[in-house]
Amino acid sequence: MWQKKILVVDDEPDILRVVETALGREDRAVIAASNGIEAVDKAFSELPDLIILDIMMPRMNGYQVCRLLKNEPLTWDMPIMMLSAKYKEKDRLYSMSIGADEYVVKPFRVEELIDKAERLLAKHQKEDKACPVSAPALVNEATLLSRVNSLLDRKLQEMTFLQHITRAIVGTFDEGKIMRTVLQGIKTEVGYRRSALMVLESGELKERLSLGYSPRERPFIEPGTLQGIQERKDAAVLAGRGGAVNQRCVVPILSRDRLKGVVLLERGLDEPPFSADRINLLSTLAGQLGMALENASMYRTTLHLSITDSLTGLFNARYLYEQLETEISRAKRYGHPLSLFMLDIDFFKRFNDAYGHLSGDEALRQVALVLKENSRETDTVARYGGEEFCVILPETDSSSAEIIAERIRKAMESHSVPTGTGDESVTLTVSIGIAQMPPALGSAEELVRIADKALYQAKEAGRNTVRTFK
Ligand code: GH3
Ligand code: MG
Ligand code: MG
Repeated sequence: MWQKKILVVDDEPDILRVVETALGREDRAVIAASNGIEAVDKAFSELPDLIILDIMMPRMNGYQVCRLLKNEPLTWDMPIMMLSAKYKEKDRLYSMSIGADEYVVKPFRVEELIDKAERLLAKHQKEDKACPVSAPALVNEATLLSRVNSLLDRKLQEMTFLQHITRAIVGTFDEGKIMRTVLQGIKTEVGYRRSALMVLESGELKERLSLGYSPRERPFIEPGTLQGIQERKDAAVLAGRGGAVNQRCVVPILSRDRLKGVVLLERGLDEPPFSADRINLLSTLAGQLGMALENASMYRTTLHLSITDSLTGLFNARYLYEQLETEISRAKRYGHPLSLFMLDIDFFKRFNDAYGHLSGDEALRQVALVLKENSRETDTVARYGGEEFCVILPETDSSSAEIIAERIRKAMESHSVPTGTGDESVTLTVSIGIAQMPPALGSAEELVRIADKALYQAKEAGRNTVRTFK
């Protein structure tokens, strides 16, 4: 008859006996070990379906056994139930964090033990070990302790890696760079070649960056999984492609406790298992990633606000000057022409007086719209202040500038502006002054001053007209 195996580890013979009596059945063999070294030895040689593990034991304690087994390819998915006199919450939490599946405090009720053991046995299905796993070398105390030590070393390495990555990603506001740094770090330091970063957008996960996937096999997550992650906000290990077990790991990226996206990892057969330790590391990493992305997005918003005019959505004067400096030096360097418009609404005070300030604001938005519609992608349209606007036209000489200005003037003249009084609308006109970049000219201020002079000439000439400063 096929038997399930339970390994019980305790240095007190009484406990071993009680557990054996409680769990032993015809279809279940109970194997005993009385210290940590023996426990690891039997875990490897017997491959039990469940391990019941004491914590305080001589030579090697239960935490060390648990951490070791949960990091070995051969044993990492064996359920482990801690059975200990340590009753504090921190002991239970620590056990769970290193991968234990259950925690039972001594003295225990036999029914509780049986109930929890049966649940773990039922849940555990042996991994289809299609991948050849190398059985560990001779299990002896020296090799085991050196393995435990190397796990501790790895912990330190992980901390260093986390620090390194954190420093790299909080030091930049470049989202692309943040994402690349994290996925690259996962590849080189944690050991997964295939990874993807997916961002939650209108309820769906959209791939933003991935490493190691071929064009035919894209990263994927079933919709049901997304829902589960949204509810639990915890990492999950999923079946891989074609139903292979435990081949994918999804780690949520949270920002202020809200799901922003996930990091998806696909494990190759030769890559380390998704052990509790590794999932902890990846979750911490995803936490840092969430914060870095949040910072980057806040930076972008602030930057946007600082260069935008809030009424019209056009650029503001500050940005206009910055951009003008850039364009002037570019025009100088390449010997290209550059034009600047200064626009002013004609008799705008009258409009305000007649229809009120709110309608005046709407009129300013309408002018902004006409300006955007009649300018090119490469032009910079800004509100200079009040009812004055500027447009920078790179690579535009005097005659083209006049044609474009005239087009704007005409478009404005025939654009109906709502007055806010019933359905009534009126038209507004604008005067436009054009400045041309003379080769010797120095600053943005000078160019603006010249455009302003041309605008004044346009007003003098009767308004609703275009003038170029000569
Ligand atoms: P001109 O043809 O000479 O330019 O006459 P104007 O009435 O347009 O010029 P003036 O400089 O006398 O008046 C500008 C008006 O623009 C005064 C002010 O009420 C209005 N204005 C400036 N900024 C805003 C704004 O943000 N919202 C509203 N509604 N009106 C504004
Ligand atoms: Mg005006
Ligand atoms: Mg004005």
